[in-house]
Amino acid sequence: TARIIDGKLIAEEIRQEIAEEIMRLKSQTNGKVLGLAVVLVGSYKDSETYVRSKKKACKEVGIISLEENLPVDSSEEEVLNIVRKFNDDPSVHGILVQLPLPKHMNEERVFAAISVEKDVDGFHPLNIGKLAMQGRTPPFVPCTPRGCIELLLRSNVEIKGKRVVVIGRSNIVGTPAAMLLQRNQATVTIVHSYTPNPTEITCEVDIVIAAVGVAHLVRGDWIKPGAVVIDVGINPIEDPSAKKGYRLVGDVCFKEGAMKASAITPIPAGVGPMTIAMLLRNTLDSAKRAYGLLD
Ligand code: NAD
Repeated sequence: TARIIDGKLIAEEIRQEIAEEIMRLKSQTNGKVLGLAVVLVGSYKDSETYVRSKKKACKEVGIISLEENLPVDSSEEEVLNIVRKFNDDPSVHGILVQLPLPKHMNEERVFAAISVEKDVDGFHPLNIGKLAMQGRTPPFVPCTPRGCIELLLRSNVEIKGKRVVVIGRSNIVGTPAAMLLQRNQATVTIVHSYTPNPTEITCEVDIVIAAVGVAHLVRGDWIKPGAVVIDVGINPIEDPSAKKGYRLVGDVCFKEGAMKASAITPIPAGVGPMTIAMLLRNTLDSAKRAYGLLD
């Protein structure tokens, strides 16, 4: 059966490295601070949980987190004003607008308002554009895709020259993951909801990255024996025996995947913790750039 890729452990290692780097940075800059600003609009339960864990992670490594909470009926202009305030604040190195935004807001306009130098989520059109262009290096790569690559690299899975399938083509996971894998010299196919016979494609490749949002979509027969499987999905399914009445599962049927793959990520403790670790890494990179310590 497959080796389990322990995302929690790898993320912990990375957070430790970041904490040490931040201590060094502070001593190099006579105690200058690092700041991450989080903008939360409305009170979505999941968003509040995500924001809480991001703030906790910041505190642990020595990043100051500022939070701005706006009511759900705020205007887009009010959100833009908050973003602009953080753009102008030199103690803020990263700005994160937590998704989803209320329906009456234009997500693209809000993301485009974030200063490219502080776009630690990597969703600014200029960052995504640079990610898509050969020979350009975007200052920030979206956290979940970056976390997937980092998991592969730190588990000694070679990406260069390999065939990879990314299932899903969202702006925040699938599409940037595919672009990032290409930059790492993989041959990438994107499988999405209009792909006929996806298994014909998926069971031919060395690495499968599932970012769909459909519980247990990927079964054992989707996977080539010995392939590596990264499961990004976080899907609640009913479970009367669980405390909350549900539990979280991935896009991959873990039991079947583990029988076929040579390595696989679990849910939880797979990609999830890596996303936060990469947010910290992006914030640190941003601060280093601001203090002239990174090209
Ligand atoms: P999304 O809904 O924006 O995109 C899903 C994509 O899957 C779409 O591109 C769609 O074309 C494709 N798709 C839908 N049904 C399909 C099918 N039957 N076959 C093939 N492709 C299909 O979702 P998202 O934001 O990319 O998130 C995907 C999953 O990853 C969700 O479960 C989400 O909760 C999870 N997620 C996890 C993290 C993390 O940190 N671990 C971060 C972001 C998202």
